[in-house]
Amino acid sequence: MASRILRLNVGFLLREGIGYSREFIFDEPVVQVADDITVQHLRGAVTLTRTPQGLYAQGQLQGTVEHECTRCLTGIDQPVSLRLSELYHFPPETAPADAPTVSDDAHLDLTPVVREDFLLSIPMQSLCRPDCKGLCSQCGKNWNEGPCDCPGAERDPRWSGLLGLLKEEPPPA
Ligand SMILES: [Zn+2]
Ligand SMILES: [Zn+2]
Repeated sequence: MASRILRLNVGFLLREGIGYSREFIFDEPVVQVADDITVQHLRGAVTLTRTPQGLYAQGQLQGTVEHECTRCLTGIDQPVSLRLSELYHFPPETAPADAPTVSDDAHLDLTPVVREDFLLSIPMQSLCRPDCKGLCSQCGKNWNEGPCDCPGAERDPRWSGLLGLLKEEPPPA
């Protein structure tokens, strides 16, 4: 369930004259913008201005989105930000196709634009660190935390010398 924090009640603004504007300040520890996307420390400000076509939204939002390292699946905090500059049409039936609108019950929902923009800020391939060693395909151990004992598994070069020594040991009689 997406959070409603970004869904603004703008009825009072629609009743104002052209040019009237109002700033909305955001400072939220956690905002769920989609079932699988949570934004932490969402903050920023958006100014809504009454225009003949509806409401013009302008502002900036930033936060962090947690996603997974492509190799080892460890959580990474990705800083994200967006610069908003968008006309929300009102009444909604006056909007061109696919243009954002203020709903009939006078709500302006910033969630879709925030979700899209923040999703695009997350790189498709991203590593928790440039030399991430990934996970063992056999036992699933995170090789950044040390090698595992799987036979044939790719090992940290620092350990290969030691493993070589162990192999040369004669089997116990
Ligand atoms: Zn990693
Ligand atoms: Zn393993």
